[in-house]
Amino acid sequence: MLFITRSSFVLLVLASVAYTAPTTQKTYDYVIVGGGTTGLVMANRLSEDSDKSILVIENGILNNGTLSSIPGNSGGLNLAAMYDIHSAPEPNLGNKNFLVTVGNVVGGGSYVNGMQFDRGADADYDAWGELGNEGWDWNGIQPYFFKSNSFDPPSKETIAAFNISYDVSAYGHGPLRVSIPDYQFPDMKPMFDSWCLEPIPQVKEGFKNPVGLYWSPNSVNKATATRTTSRSAYYDTIADRRPNLKLMTNTHVDEIIFEKTRLGLVATGVKYTPNDAKMQSQVFAAKEVILAAGGVFTPHLLMVSGIGPKDVLQAAGVTVKKDLSAVGSNFQDHIANYMNFKLEGLDPENIPALATNATFNQTSYNQYLANHTGPYSVGKSNGLVFIALQHFDSAYQKTVDTIKSQVATKYLPERYSKNKQLLAGYLKQRDILAKQFSGVNAAVGEIVIKSYGSSSTANNKPLSRGTITLNSTNPAGFPVVQWNTFMNPVDASVIVSLARFNRKHWTRPELAHYKPVETAPGPQYQTDEEIIQGGITSGSLAPSFAHPCGSCAMMPENLGGCVSDQLLVYGIQRLSVIDASILPMIPATHLQATMYAVAEKAADIVKSRA
Ligand SMILES: Cc1cc2nc3c(=O)[nH]c(=O)nc-3n(C[C@H](O)[C@H](O)[C@H](O)COP(=O)(O)OP(=O)(O)OC[C@H]3O[C@@H](n4cnc5c(N)ncnc54)[C@H](O)[C@@H]3O)c2cc1C
Repeated sequence: MLFITRSSFVLLVLASVAYTAPTTQKTYDYVIVGGGTTGLVMANRLSEDSDKSILVIENGILNNGTLSSIPGNSGGLNLAAMYDIHSAPEPNLGNKNFLVTVGNVVGGGSYVNGMQFDRGADADYDAWGELGNEGWDWNGIQPYFFKSNSFDPPSKETIAAFNISYDVSAYGHGPLRVSIPDYQFPDMKPMFDSWCLEPIPQVKEGFKNPVGLYWSPNSVNKATATRTTSRSAYYDTIADRRPNLKLMTNTHVDEIIFEKTRLGLVATGVKYTPNDAKMQSQVFAAKEVILAAGGVFTPHLLMVSGIGPKDVLQAAGVTVKKDLSAVGSNFQDHIANYMNFKLEGLDPENIPALATNATFNQTSYNQYLANHTGPYSVGKSNGLVFIALQHFDSAYQKTVDTIKSQVATKYLPERYSKNKQLLAGYLKQRDILAKQFSGVNAAVGEIVIKSYGSSSTANNKPLSRGTITLNSTNPAGFPVVQWNTFMNPVDASVIVSLARFNRKHWTRPELAHYKPVETAPGPQYQTDEEIIQGGITSGSLAPSFAHPCGSCAMMPENLGGCVSDQLLVYGIQRLSVIDASILPMIPATHLQATMYAVAEKAADIVKSRA
């Protein structure tokens, strides 16, 4: 284990600068910024070697509340465990400022998320390989899905009653337990069955073939019927047994420390401030500083530390240490259209009744406390539809032609016109998207099947690209988050096609007994423009499905990348990024299963450097 003094560390890195820091400073082998989903996976794997010392610094606290742990509570947001950050006005969404959903807690997103546990199509990961990232195609990342998760099926009775299909061999033997619970709300059966009648692929196991209709697990431990998180699976299980791992909570990392050496710019540590002390300290990393602060805060930390687009840094008065346009570029998310239908005749045991019927709510809660069963033991949904463009839009070829004929810069942030590398990377991504849009190997649209009238849809393959920049008057404050939703009109057309397809589904005779009436966006909105405007007015449209990513993309530098496939920030020594910001293209899936796998692979890469 390495706890060395600051002076010996300087010798280790062959620094050419004079040493001035106090000798009492602690140095760890690895300093991980962010104890969220990826940060704790990395901390666990690195601390397997008792000779290595690891410090994780997390802004949030160890939260033990039942709002997150009980699956039945996952319908709403646990705002107390999230950042209170809103986006810049979104010009194409009525200039509204939207909540940027990011966990601020040990466990990060895994602690506050909707617990959907699925993966993208093989083609989604192959795309990362096609962009020049060696070892990051499906074959390269698949073993790490196996390494991170393990699956528990529901009871035989539930399988028979709901006709649930699954294939255990699609999952692994990893620490994160996921499951399809024994309890399902009765209306889940007719709702799921109605989708079996659509001309879309029905797949036995979504974790094997993720394009189509399938039953899907939640990140829930079947034995205890509680949420599983990076904390419960990767930290709580080892914390007491590994003195070489330290987790510092309720502490904000303010800045990365660099030294100019003969080797170039080297990340040597971080400056941090405990949230309740407000006194800044420093800590040093002998081997690496590892950023796991997520798709929103990693680019912010890089920029505030002097790594980012020169103009953004200069406008905020931050000294430029490395002009890197990739930081805060390529920002992506799934675009949500939270459609909703008013239904009649639901079974008395239904999700909305938990909010409207106090007796049912209390009985259900007591049942959960007594034996971990019933309505509170299940999350939002175990039914998913992930479909190719041609599955929901017969005019898909027209969309493909439009994508190919567009002058890309017309629909991109200005920086892409000024920077050849950024544009080259985007054009390569666009070619991949055009290929995916014309085939059936990757999903473009998503519909979440629930047991009541909430019918969320999402465009999973945005062509628009957002930015994360510094607040020029307060660079240390929250970053400026700009999704640029619908900057590329193709994204809006996909949302419209998906809304029409979903609307049509709800007119099926098999669902007629529910007498569905669309309440969001609303049946009065019929033309393309009206459907978008109705989504804005009703509030069903949102720029994010809580999957911010891509803002420090893993791609070659000549394609506008931020980190290499070895996860090192270009132009800096000993600084790596492992969180959702590295995803070069967003896969068609909820992100957590992918992030667990990415972090497992990242841990092997970092270890191999040692
Ligand atoms: C509300 C919500 C619902 C979601 N629903 C689903 C779902 O149902 N299924 C699914 O698969 N995915 C879902 N996701 C997405 C998924 O959880 C995330 O993509 C994933 O957790 C991202 O992992 P990460 O490690 O990149 O970042 P995070 O897990 O967000 O970790 C980043 C951590 O860094 C900390 N941090 C940031 N800046 C600093 C700093 N300067 N100093 C110290 N600490 C810092 C944060 O507090 C946070 O804990 C959801 C996410 C949210 C927020």
